[in-house]
Amino acid sequence: MSFAGSSMIDPFGRSISYLRVSVTDRCDFRCTYCMAEDMAFLPKKDLLSLEELDRLCTVFIEKGVKKLRLTGGEPLVRKNIMHLVRQLSRHLESGALEELTLTTNGSQLARFARELADCGVKRINVSLDTLDPEKFRTITRWGDLSKVMAGIEAAGAAGLKIKINAVALKGFNDSELPEMLRWAHGRGMDLTVIETMPMGEIDADRTDQYLPLSQLRADLERRFTLTDIPYKTGGPARYVEVAETGGRMGFITPLTHNFCESCNRVRLTCTGMLYMCLGQNDDADLRAPLRASEGNELLSNAIDEAIGRKPKGHDFVIDRRTSRPAVARHMSVTGG
Ligand code: SAM
Ligand code: SF4
Repeated sequence: MSFAGSSMIDPFGRSISYLRVSVTDRCDFRCTYCMAEDMAFLPKKDLLSLEELDRLCTVFIEKGVKKLRLTGGEPLVRKNIMHLVRQLSRHLESGALEELTLTTNGSQLARFARELADCGVKRINVSLDTLDPEKFRTITRWGDLSKVMAGIEAAGAAGLKIKINAVALKGFNDSELPEMLRWAHGRGMDLTVIETMPMGEIDADRTDQYLPLSQLRADLERRFTLTDIPYKTGGPARYVEVAETGGRMGFITPLTHNFCESCNRVRLTCTGMLYMCLGQNDDADLRAPLRASEGNELLSNAIDEAIGRKPKGHDFVIDRRTSRPAVARHMSVTGG
């Protein structure tokens, strides 16, 4: 049975058209704000196969999803990930899906850029918090900046549009952001900065890392002319144009400026759990209905039931009195 033409509307009237899929919670980096060094990952036996992920995504597309982002963990370390990308690209060809994209740390991009472009991927997000190789090693614990740079180069050469995402970290990259802005815009890439979110136990204290973007923007405005623009990519960033560079800069501000009222997203984990909000614990098991029958009706009903529970918003706070993360799971489980 196909669910084509139906659409998913949550209790607050928001239409759900964007699915993010964490294809693995594993990663070849250990960014200090994202993971503890010694991480416990989801048991391999609970992983959905690539075929199961494809089936799940297909049902979401039939139910109205127009934009699909693969993320993780690091999506490009999932074994045979290109098989899934190629399978999903049929929905681009049919027109059912408007955009297939991914968020990556770039470490494996040099290997996969051309094939991604060949599968109809047009734009990708590459996470990069610093241009300094030493600082890069410190923040990612295990990463090698030269590999990421080679990945960015390869992606550009393959014709992919690249957006750089940087988590704004107090005392770490705040003073470097003007340079990163010039670097990204000089290469035709947008740069988006993100406030660090209280997800999962990490080894560091988030209060020390947290930099409100209202403060960062005020600092940048001493050097650059920033003009708000209505540009949208379907995600939560609000954009400005930077007169001096002619490029675009995005701000993702879950803490200082809540954007939940326009949320169009849900998130699927690699074990088939659906999270209706990044900042809440409520989830729905889609693996059981997926495996219970060969048809997709049970699955479709479970998705409808879950969307009917999508909460109004998150309640992230970072301050000295709130030492526990808002949600216990790490960002790598539900993806960024
Ligand atoms: N590994 C890929 C990457 O780094 O791009 C994809 C997954 S990663 C979890 C997605 C995004 O979430 C990255 O841009 C990362 O910087 C961001 N991120 C991770 N933990 C975060 C946190 N606690 N607060 C804000 N952003 C976070
Ligand atoms: Fe890995 Fe991305 Fe998390 Fe860094 S932010 S540890 S690259 S999942």
